[in-house]
Amino acid sequence: MSLELSAAQGFAGNRLDRKGNDRDDPERIAAWRASPLARFVLFAGDQPLLDRSGNEPSVTVPAVRVDAEGEATESVFLGVDGDAPVFGLLLPERAPDAYQAADGLVVADLRSLAAEAVVSPHALGILAQAKSLLGWHRRHRFCANCGARTTPSPSGWRRDCAACSAQHFPRTDPVVIMLVRRGDACLLARQARFATGVYSCLAGFLEPGETLEDAVRREVAEEAGLQTGPVSYMCSQPWPFPSSLMIGCVADAGEGEIVLDRGELEDGRWFSRAEVRLMLKGAHPDGLRVPPPLAIAHHLLQAFAAEPD
Ligand SMILES: [Zn+2]
Repeated sequence: MSLELSAAQGFAGNRLDRKGNDRDDPERIAAWRASPLARFVLFAGDQPLLDRSGNEPSVTVPAVRVDAEGEATESVFLGVDGDAPVFGLLLPERAPDAYQAADGLVVADLRSLAAEAVVSPHALGILAQAKSLLGWHRRHRFCANCGARTTPSPSGWRRDCAACSAQHFPRTDPVVIMLVRRGDACLLARQARFATGVYSCLAGFLEPGETLEDAVRREVAEEAGLQTGPVSYMCSQPWPFPSSLMIGCVADAGEGEIVLDRGELEDGRWFSRAEVRLMLKGAHPDGLRVPPPLAIAHHLLQAFAAEPD
């Protein structure tokens, strides 16, 4: 077991050897692609296809199953799993029913797969990597510099523009999520779109020119009207919706009343450690809850709840 809190997060279990130094070697990539050991992660738009033909559901299929699905519109090299090269493929757009007609393949929902622990953490991490990377290709087919159509590199880790020579690389968008505390209490809030009774940590996108610490302090001031002091980093989580990195932090709030940004938040207040413990156990007298273990907020709150009184 790793002692890193990040390793316990949903989508963080990917153990592929990404072979980053081989990505710019087209012959190496082609050889892996043609290997009889190669496995393929299939995506239909934003949704992974799960192979349910065996005893256990599988997130990868061999080449022979891919051929039956037609020419992929995007191909990315994800890494090597033991001896098996693993690729992600974006299948041609078609109606979901068309995939389900193929032998044992079902269109799945990544959040549901994660929430219901249908596949291993390793498999879930591979799906997250594939979803973010294939999704980036889907949304970046044209050059952001000159507007011409771009061409993916053989490994799928870059797109090149022949018209202006610009190179484009996959992006990850950092999001800060913070446990704001004051003594034995922490600040939790809810958005109207949350499930009934669920309260979570404040969060927001890092803006250009900010440090993580600045982003935490700005978001807390904007959303809750509170000033916070030093910020500590706790853990991070890849979040493939579509391609974020959640960065879990802790900050201590100074004096002052909470003034919620009602445009963003429906409700929010201080919760005592005792209350958070009840919420984690699903035993809060008012039925209030925290996000499920798939969410990094759950782990930030677990760490807070585990502190001695
Ligand atoms: Zn260009």
